Formats: sequence, structure tokens, C-alpha cells
Amino acid sequence: MAGVRVGNRIIGAEAPVTIGWENVPRVEGSRLKVLFFTWFQPAVLFCAILFWYYAPNSIAKASVAFGIGLGFRLILFTLEWFFPRHESWKMTWKELAVDLFYVGLGATILETVDGFIGSDVLIELVRDSFEWDKLAWFIGLPLLLQAFLISFIFDFGQYWMHRGMHNWYPLWLTHKIHHYITQFNINKGAVGNPIELFLIGLGIGGFFDFLPRAFLLSGAIGMAVGSYMHLNVRFNTPSWWRFLFNTTEHHSIHHSQDYEATRSNFAGIYIFIDRIFGTCVDGEAEILGQDGGRRMSIPEQMLHPFTEGWKDARKRFGASSTVPAE
Ligand SMILES: [Zn+2]
Ligand SMILES: [Zn+2]
Repeated sequence: MAGVRVGNRIIGAEAPVTIGWENVPRVEGSRLKVLFFTWFQPAVLFCAILFWYYAPNSIAKASVAFGIGLGFRLILFTLEWFFPRHESWKMTWKELAVDLFYVGLGATILETVDGFIGSDVLIELVRDSFEWDKLAWFIGLPLLLQAFLISFIFDFGQYWMHRGMHNWYPLWLTHKIHHYITQFNINKGAVGNPIELFLIGLGIGGFFDFLPRAFLLSGAIGMAVGSYMHLNVRFNTPSWWRFLFNTTEHHSIHHSQDYEATRSNFAGIYIFIDRIFGTCVDGEAEILGQDGGRRMSIPEQMLHPFTEGWKDARKRFGASSTVPAE
């Protein structure tokens, strides 16, 4: 495979990756269908912002945000069922069983974390010990700007965290499991992905009970943009959206079987962070997974970071303890 030059790297030399928006297929069919899949994403983002901007205080609560998030996932799940992006990514019983295991695991961990974070004692402690007055200048900014800054700072941090996971072996061991998924669907964010589990945990933690409106708004932006990361639905995403935001296309390249391609598109929400640091690759991939798409059983997934770490430690230890002949 020849691969395509992107910047000073060759992408797609080891496994098929489609590079360039002009080579990515568009949604075809009736006028109504094309209209729907062209405007769905911007319309949802616009509505989410309007809602959290104008909702009265009695409605603007964490529980409502949680409910909307759940409802939105259900809508996306239904879209996947009727309009899959790739037939090869269609849901099977085996995939669903693994996904549900992880969603269940995530929910259990979350509940535990929430129980801890949400405890009144801890909330009081944070409220009292943190000098909220120092944030007065921030509260004075327009609400939408506050929301953007919160999500941007958050995503900027997660960009470097994620990039670190791909560059530092101990972190890679924990993130690697997530890269064994061989197809995308709405639940795949939960599969072996410590970053996403952690993010979700933070997001719907008990702190929400006294979170200002700007946080709810930034959470809504995160939902309306980030939910497509692992989604098996094709949209005619507008070019300004693809320029600014992460998409299924970008993230599928990150999950492809081509090593160079996986070292791209690290951002969660704002793909322009990747553009700034030269790690963005525009395009898509259908064939995904580590080790040429080898399936990993759940027990193996659970143990992998430890067994691999042990193997590597032994290799290193063994090598250093061997006394050279001379
Ligand atoms: Zn990754
Ligand atoms: Zn992923």
C-alpha cells in the first residue's frame, strides 16, 4: 500500500485509510433524507445551546441534563439501527454483550465515584475551601464564552492526556484496550476507555448539584459534539463543523489499523486543537483494531494491562541482570 502524504507523515501505508473529504462518501437518497442528515448535527447543537441558555433555574439541573443525555443516546442508537454508516459495523449479539458489560461496569464505577463526590461533606468542603471570589472576573464574561472556555480548557487537557497515552508505554497499556474495538457504535466509548469513563464520571458527578449554568451549557456542547465520536451513522457534516469539531470520520482514522493514522486526531471535542499541533488527519477508516483486528475476550481485556506490563518488566529486568561476558 502506498499511503498518502499528510504533512510530513505517510498515512495508510499499512492498512486502508481514506484521506481527504472529497473521497469520503455523502449521504444519498430522497431529498428529505439528505436534508435530515445534513442539518441534524447543527440543529441539535443549536437547540441544546438555546435550551440551556434560556431554561429557568427550576429546570436547569443536573438530573435534566442526565435525562436529555440519555434520550439523545437513544435517538442515536435508533439512527444506527436504521441508517448504519458501514454494514460491517452493524450490531451483533456478541458485540452488544461486550458493550453492555462495559456500560454496566462504567455505571457501577460511576455510582461509586458519585457516591463519594456527591457526599454532602465533600461538597461543603469544596464550597468552603475554594475561593470562588477569585473567579469573579470569569463569571463576568458572556455565558456562552464561559461555556466555550470551560469545554476548551477541558478538551485541551484531554488532548495532551490522550496524546501522552499513545506515547508513554505505561499509559498506553491502559488505553490500548480501547483500541482493540473493531467497529464503532454508540456504546463503544465505554469499552476499555479509562479516559472516557473518567470524563463521564467527572461530568455527571455530584458536583452538578451546585454547578453554575456555564458548566451545564459546556456539558451540552460536549454532548452535541462529542456523541458522534464512536457512532455508526453517516452524516453530511457541514465543512465548518468538520474544521472545528471532532467527527466520527476523524475518530475512525484514530482507530484504524494503520499505525501512523492512529497517531492523529487526539482531541475529544475540538479537532482544531489537532490542527494547531499538526496531528489532524481529515478522512475516514472502516477497518479498525489493533493486531490486525484481533478480537480480545473480556477477561483478556481486563488482564491485558497487567500481563503486558509484567511481560515487559521481566524482559527489561532480565536484560539488565544479565552480566556481560567481558
Ligand atoms: Zn487513542
Ligand atoms: Zn475511541
